[in-house]
Amino acid sequence: MIRFEKAMEIFAWPFFRLIRIAHDIHRQNFNEQAVQISEILSVKTGGCSEDCAYCAQSIRNGTKMPKHPMLNLETVVSAAREARGRGASRFCMSASGRTPTSKEEFNAICNMVKEVKALGLETCATLGMINGEQAAQLKKSGLDYYNHNVDTSPDFYEKIVSTRIIDDRIKTIETVQDAGINVCCGGIVGMGETNEDRVKMLVLLANLKTPPKCVPLNKLVKIPGTRVDDSHPIDDFDFVRLIALARILMPRSYVKIAAGRNTFSDGIQALCMFAGANALFSSEKLLTVDNVRAGADKSLFERLGVTVELPNA
Ligand code: SAM
Ligand code: SF4
Repeated sequence: MIRFEKAMEIFAWPFFRLIRIAHDIHRQNFNEQAVQISEILSVKTGGCSEDCAYCAQSIRNGTKMPKHPMLNLETVVSAAREARGRGASRFCMSASGRTPTSKEEFNAICNMVKEVKALGLETCATLGMINGEQAAQLKKSGLDYYNHNVDTSPDFYEKIVSTRIIDDRIKTIETVQDAGINVCCGGIVGMGETNEDRVKMLVLLANLKTPPKCVPLNKLVKIPGTRVDDSHPIDDFDFVRLIALARILMPRSYVKIAAGRNTFSDGIQALCMFAGANALFSSEKLLTVDNVRAGADKSLFERLGVTVELPNA
């Protein structure tokens, strides 16, 4: 059991000591020169009834985002094939919404999972809250990972979402784990929360019965019209500290730099990798927002001697 006070103490260590210790733990558990690459596709976009303060897809936010119903199977499989060609080992299918809305839509997603898996890719889905029966069906279809972020600390949660409580998220995470699917779960920083909130979020994840196999850290992408579009951004070095803390608290989890990576210089990204980040999203788009420039990662990896992992789930 990790105590919040201890985690806060680690977070506040002198910067170079913190990243050196995180790096040593990283080397003991992973190939320090390797990263795992995912791509993500929004298979259903917008029209969501939830009120997540940061999200472009909520009908309750004043955003002007194009929306579309569930994509057809061919479109998704062709996007996955292209992702594989660009070097991704995992393909994530994301659907807006509190929960899958109909049996028909859910079956369509299970078919996507089957076909994407057949391409030799690891599969990931993020569909909101699901029950045991749905988790079992996804597992049977070949789902390797389910993404379900807790997003922020339990204390700050009600400032960000009012249409559910954090325990609803945790229930889905445990349901997914009980079905034998790996969990990808992290959060967003830069929504007005304090460093204490950020550390509490990581402590919550580390103290789950089984810590997530993958921990994505998103830097808020400010969407005009959302309730957090004027919040203060996180300091780059605090972001590196959080990566290091995630590595120390969850030594065997993949730590992923997710949204907002295009705001970091190559130097900050390299520091994140040194501190224990070993997973990335590489597509030019992350759901509705811009991610990294095409070719930027290839050049960065070459300069750092970083290699890309093959699928192994
Ligand atoms: N509806 C599903 C859900 O809420 O789990 C899946 C889709 S949701 C868009 C996936 C994740 O993207 C969210 O949990 C959040 O962490 C991240 N996200 C969404 N909008 C973001 C933003 N503006 N900046 C950073 N991360 C964001
Ligand atoms: Fe809906 Fe997911 Fe966006 Fe929340 S994060 S508004 S649940 S799509």
